Amino acid sequence: MPHYVRMQDHKLPDGTFDLDGYLAALRANGEACQLCDAFLADAVGEPRTCGQCAAAGDPGPLRHDKMVRCPACGRLFPPECDFPVDDRTWERCPACGGEFGAEVHVRYSYVSPARPEAGGPQERTDDH
Ligand SMILES: [Zn+2]
Ligand SMILES: [Zn+2]
Repeated sequence: MPHYVRMQDHKLPDGTFDLDGYLAALRANGEACQLCDAFLADAVGEPRTCGQCAAAGDPGPLRHDKMVRCPACGRLFPPECDFPVDDRTWERCPACGGEFGAEVHVRYSYVSPARPEAGGPQERTDDH
């Protein structure tokens, strides 16, 4: 049986959680990517990287949900810019100072209204 990190093991005396410690334990146990913190389904007992970070070793364009890669030195880091200009975010590499633009692709998810049985508001479909 693999050992899984439990959030309650990182509870502080004041009742809040040591989220940094929890995340560090997830990374150390291979439950989160050691580079980007992406959740990985199972515990392997040692640090590892997710598939997207592993793909950064390939010199081609890199598609990643959380990180950008410096084309000069290969360093992966979270993008600084939250508000892309012209679908690009302009980044400066913290390792070598190189500047580059990364395309930003936005994904959507859909939030559907509650079903009436679940206590949500009943939507009227007729006008009588
Ligand atoms: Zn990763
Ligand atoms: Zn760099």
